[in-house]
Amino acid sequence: MMSKSIRVYSPATVSNVTCGFDVLGFAIEKPGDTILAEQSARPGVRIKEIVGSDSIPLNPLENVASVAAQALVNHVDSKIGIDLTIYKNIKAGSGIGSSASSAVAATFATNQLLGAPIKNTFDLIPFAMQGEQIASGAFHADNVAPALLGGFIIVRSNDPLDVVQLGAPPELYTVVIHPDVQIKTSESRKLLPAQVPLKSLVTQTGNLAGLVAGLLQHDYDLIGRSMIDIIVEPARAATIPGFKELKQTALDAGALGAGISGSGPSVFALCKGEASAQKVLEEMKRSYQNFNIPFDTYISPINKKGTIEIID
Ligand code: ADP
Repeated sequence: MMSKSIRVYSPATVSNVTCGFDVLGFAIEKPGDTILAEQSARPGVRIKEIVGSDSIPLNPLENVASVAAQALVNHVDSKIGIDLTIYKNIKAGSGIGSSASSAVAATFATNQLLGAPIKNTFDLIPFAMQGEQIASGAFHADNVAPALLGGFIIVRSNDPLDVVQLGAPPELYTVVIHPDVQIKTSESRKLLPAQVPLKSLVTQTGNLAGLVAGLLQHDYDLIGRSMIDIIVEPARAATIPGFKELKQTALDAGALGAGISGSGPSVFALCKGEASAQKVLEEMKRSYQNFNIPFDTYISPINKKGTIEIID
């Protein structure tokens, strides 16, 4: 038997895009995890090595990558053996879809090693979700779907799965700043209100409708006007040191809008054009230096390709 292998890149993602809590996400170009999947004679999926992190589990039952891959292998009832090497470039718990990136890359690679039994990439989402589920405890597509497909994604429903691809306006750029502090998603969930007044719901849905229309019509002003979250952001803002200052700095520097990525601590801004994004990045960096917290920054157009095979 010829031993087969494949290398796959899957990008980081921003979910909970302001008023689109739990329903709107998009992919960025960098960072992203790369996974090398090698066929082996021993049936089952294993993690051979994790490069770039020593805190992520090697146990195949605890790593989202192997759990996702195994879900697909089980689905097609295959006895294939697969060894995964994960090149971990997205810090776990950063709020930019670290676990989703690994789960998606592993699912995509496994499908290729199996000879592509799943014909439509779209249909790989549920397998990646099964991996993602062991990290977040929830069966959610809001990071997995944009990581796989690229662009902006609406998750109309997780179960039954109904995901809508929106693509992305050509001049839209994003700036992400990741302060190196720990925020537990479970803790951050506890801060959310159990109920919202009808008036707030109307404001929020108006903004979400405007944001989606702005994305589809490439109306940058409408995108900016609509990036307002009056329900989730006020409840979570205090968990991120310097959030208010970062957001105000981004807006003052010309960003269309800004908000919390995922459940934080990463903060993102959307900008029209690369020059504007560069300016926003510089100002956000300058502002955050006052907080004495180490941070990483990323700047990129919206990633429209999603997950790709890397050909050496
Ligand atoms: P993020 O919000 O950045 O996506 P998550 O909170 O979703 O991060 O996931 C982090 C959790 O998932 C950690 O507990 C981590 O140990 C676990 N995990 C398991 N496998 C992976 C993996 N391959 N990549 C990242 N995190 C993983």
